[in-house]
Amino acid sequence: MSTQRREAGRALVVGAGVAGLSTALRLHRGGWEVLVVEKAPGSRSGGTWISFRGVGYQAAGRLGILPQLVEAQLPWEDIHMLDTAGRLRVVWPAAAQLALMNEPTLHIPRGKIADILLDALNGEVKVEYGTTVSGIAQDAGGVDCVLSNGVRERFDLVVGADGVNSVVRELVFGPEAEFRADFGDLLALYNVERNPVDTGVEHLMSGVGRMVAVSRLGDSFSVLFLWTSTDLRSDLATDLSTSVRRRFEDLGWAVPALLKEVEAVSSAYYGPVSQVKMDTWSQGRVVLVGDAAWCTGFYAGYGASLAVGGAVLLGDVLERHPGDLAGALREWEAGFRPVALKVQAQARRGRGSFFLPPSEFAITLRTIFLRIAGNAVTTRLLRLFMGVRSPK
Ligand SMILES: Cc1cc2nc3c(=O)[nH]c(=O)nc-3n(C[C@H](O)[C@H](O)[C@H](O)COP(=O)(O)OP(=O)(O)OC[C@H]3O[C@@H](n4cnc5c(N)ncnc54)[C@H](O)[C@@H]3O)c2cc1C
Repeated sequence: MSTQRREAGRALVVGAGVAGLSTALRLHRGGWEVLVVEKAPGSRSGGTWISFRGVGYQAAGRLGILPQLVEAQLPWEDIHMLDTAGRLRVVWPAAAQLALMNEPTLHIPRGKIADILLDALNGEVKVEYGTTVSGIAQDAGGVDCVLSNGVRERFDLVVGADGVNSVVRELVFGPEAEFRADFGDLLALYNVERNPVDTGVEHLMSGVGRMVAVSRLGDSFSVLFLWTSTDLRSDLATDLSTSVRRRFEDLGWAVPALLKEVEAVSSAYYGPVSQVKMDTWSQGRVVLVGDAAWCTGFYAGYGASLAVGGAVLLGDVLERHPGDLAGALREWEAGFRPVALKVQAQARRGRGSFFLPPSEFAITLRTIFLRIAGNAVTTRLLRLFMGVRSPK
């Protein structure tokens, strides 16, 4: 990759999540002058562990950040799957989880990926925190942007990497409701310093339409509540602690303690689980990447991998087609859309088979699959059942 500056043009990247930071890094390496704006006041490094693999793993290698990611990975842990009374249904061994992936896979906190990307920018790309874009108007020669800090600037390219509720999408492509398809589920994820379960192992408790998981992330822990809402609008209109309590307060085990703790949580990743479906990811000089363009929803566990893969491919095609933005974006979409669509389909399958089984029978089926997981045949079956396969 070229390391010359500026000759490719000026790019604004909106959002400093995994997609925005990988795009910024790849464009910077490709000779773009890049400005990143991020709405949050500082780097958002929360989240639970994810399986980083496939197109993301390969792209991370090309970005030169694989050694740092490998160093930051966590050991895979056995997952103790519990019923809603807190009784052990099955232990899903770490080795069986890894075998399911069938390709190099890092078990890594989502926040570490963002941290590593930010480090790789090495201060050479400006990241303006507490800032968003409030106006975008483009003509054949460039894009005029109004930033929330009052600055007006012209760019050759604007990349919306501002997640599922993208403001760039809203400003350029249309209202969110046209593109966002909700599963009807809510996800709340936050990090704590102390293990709220105090047993040292990873736990996943689930009943029909709801799940609680507590995971170790090195020195800290993540807590995840996931549930199918009976009234999404009303759940979203209330605060996190009330809506979680409403859905989980009848459960035993560590749940009462977790519900007490959730009241004090200062920052959570909380909202409906959705997919984003768009016929095109670009308009003129404005392009969307990551969840803003193709959010697959939590269930494929592949969002960060897709974000890095899509961002690096975008940088590649722009480098291959200097002066032909439309051609570059066409090639990018033709190459990456089938990948993103496959992952969206996998997410829909993974939701019912693993995360939120729709009935007690489906939970029993999942338990049986996990109990027999481990040998080559059952691992293959489980891969099909859960829809876990990196798209090619
Ligand atoms: C704090 C956090 C924790 C997460 N935890 C998990 C997890 O545990 N498991 C999982 O599967 N996925 C998690 N995700 C989602 C996951 O990171 C994404 O699905 C995937 O990495 C694709 O990333 P993205 O950069 O496209 O979107 P995101 O990760 O959502 O990043 C978008 C970024 O844009 C910023 N932004 C939003 N609106 C604006 C705006 N108007 N102007 C400027 N900036 C804006 C956001 O603050 C955010 O930093 C988490 C996301 C966040 C932000």
